Amino acid sequence: MQRIFLTLISPAEYARQGVNFKFPVPDACPNPECLIPIPPKKHGFYGRNCLDVTYRGRVLIRRYYCPFCGKTVSYLPSFCLPYYQYSLAVIYMIIVNHIESAMSYASIIRNLRKHHPNLHLGLQHVEFYILRFLMNLNSIQIGLRQFLPDLALPDFGLDIKKGAKKILHIVNGGFGTIQTFSQRFFEQCKRSFLSPLHNSLA
Ligand SMILES: [Zn+2]
Repeated sequence: MQRIFLTLISPAEYARQGVNFKFPVPDACPNPECLIPIPPKKHGFYGRNCLDVTYRGRVLIRRYYCPFCGKTVSYLPSFCLPYYQYSLAVIYMIIVNHIESAMSYASIIRNLRKHHPNLHLGLQHVEFYILRFLMNLNSIQIGLRQFLPDLALPDFGLDIKKGAKKILHIVNGGFGTIQTFSQRFFEQCKRSFLSPLHNSLA
């Protein structure tokens, strides 16, 4: 299983610290079917890519192993999203550019190529991230309701982009940073706010 831990460190600094980074140390097994109050054992690392404006390359992901239930758990820093090579900051910048600032795909790409030419982001990335966000709007709403039960959520039956803009506004206003939202959403819903959907778009 995977968990996300909140860190404000940059991907570059995280990569620089390598094995010396102060990784989170669970005091109990995080597997919900186990939860034995004995710290799981360190179980090495694996490398994964992180493509960010500050850093492009491998980062280490700390793993633990619980000898009681046999489950392995890995701890992803909050600047990463499961299954995405680009950092959360890069992906979120694209979503905000389009949904909030109403930039066209073409101008987002022009901007990225001008300011971050090393990221090699193309049209297919931009389209994919925005579509993923729009497809997850319903599940993001359901997640938000669990955090903020009194919140009046927009009914965006007709205009999905208008609804997306309101959701972004709530996310930005209610959680401070996108990393905080991403981490809390993952902990609460056991999936990322940009994860693939198994059921069709409602
Ligand atoms: Zn366990």
